[in-house]
Amino acid sequence: MVYLGNTLNMLWINLWITSEQGASVRCPYCGYADSKVIDSRLNEAGDVTRRRRECLECGKRVTSFERIEEQPLTIIKKNGEREPFSRTKLLEGILRALVKRQVEREIIERIVDDIESSLRNEFRHEVASRELGDRVLRALKEVDKVAYIRFASVYRDFKDLEEFTQELKILT
Ligand SMILES: [Zn+2]
Repeated sequence: MVYLGNTLNMLWINLWITSEQGASVRCPYCGYADSKVIDSRLNEAGDVTRRRRECLECGKRVTSFERIEEQPLTIIKKNGEREPFSRTKLLEGILRALVKRQVEREIIERIVDDIESSLRNEFRHEVASRELGDRVLRALKEVDKVAYIRFASVYRDFKDLEEFTQELKILT
């Protein structure tokens, strides 16, 4: 699914879609975990649903525009193969780079959520694995420099020590 609407609506819906994957729904105003749909209608083409939602805690309302996206997000690998985007796979890849680093799991989950929701909000259907890796790197750079280098060494496939050292210099 992809979304149209203002930032708060997107925030709400991003969290809502996350909830379908197991987390809870949170109000963008007060953070409460449940809402009720008070109005729901399809557009003329029948592919966009407009929903009015009301927070069960603070009563504030947001409008969401939710479009059923037929095409899933596809990752194009370096060798040209395509595979469906997997949140789990991305998460595991980052966790591998972070073994024995003191980075909270919650932070990593947030990085993955941010990447996925930004790609979906950009209405992307296909993303090169290289770009996905770059997005992870940008996020990791802010969090943990060692994790960043580890992830970079896997994702960027450094050709030699010199290239690796160059990357280290950028960081210091
Ligand atoms: Zn609320």
